[in-house]
Amino acid sequence: MMRPLDTIIELQEALEQLHRAETQLGGIPDWMQELDAEYRERKEEIDELESATEAGRLERKTAEAGIADAQEKLKRYQRQINEVTTQREYGALLQEIDTVKGQISAFEEQGIAAMERTESAKQALEEKRAGFQDLEDRYQAELARWDKEKPSLADEARKLRERVEVLRERLSRPYLSQFERIHERTHGQALAPIRRIERKGPTMWHCGACNYNVRPQVLVEIQNRGSLIQCDSCKRILYVEGERESAPAEANAAHSPA
Ligand SMILES: [Zn+2]
Repeated sequence: MMRPLDTIIELQEALEQLHRAETQLGGIPDWMQELDAEYRERKEEIDELESATEAGRLERKTAEAGIADAQEKLKRYQRQINEVTTQREYGALLQEIDTVKGQISAFEEQGIAAMERTESAKQALEEKRAGFQDLEDRYQAELARWDKEKPSLADEARKLRERVEVLRERLSRPYLSQFERIHERTHGQALAPIRRIERKGPTMWHCGACNYNVRPQVLVEIQNRGSLIQCDSCKRILYVEGERESAPAEANAAHSPA
């Protein structure tokens, strides 16, 4: 008969594989990460240059509208100048004309600066776009490859879900709810391997997740009976890596009656 701990270990593995498959299905696969990052980065640069070009164009348009308005005003003042009768009016009008001329040259400078910015953004944009084509082609090719791989990954995820169900049913209620509680609390890391502490002196063991000390009796208990024992500190279910059935000689030797 299968021991609950062995089922729990299998369940944990199946859940991890399922999580990986679902994460990939919901995003992009590992082998595409690098290209995807490069693609996004270049795309962002292009988007920024496009915005800069558009902003420059709008600014130039605003400046031109400003110039047109100011020139209208200027014409009006120049017509009025023939109609003034007093020295004071004449002086005031000249003042207005000066102001509006100043506005025109400010708008002109603004327009030229905007035009220069637009030009350099456009030029950079063309260069970026030329270099982007190759990346775009490679990206599209990988996307197509990914689209082809998706169905088999989806199928794998479906099989894993079935496997998870089978394993869940194999566990009795209390064991299953114990596992699920820990699984949820530990964000999917319900198990912790027991590891040997590498050092001189008597053999000691600790929890592979939190390093807390594990008593040798616990190790023996798990190896011999497959008992469900939680780490005293992080409360994960402890297991022995790679050896579900037999106890290592050291642990036995340390605790066999003298
Ligand atoms: Zn622990």
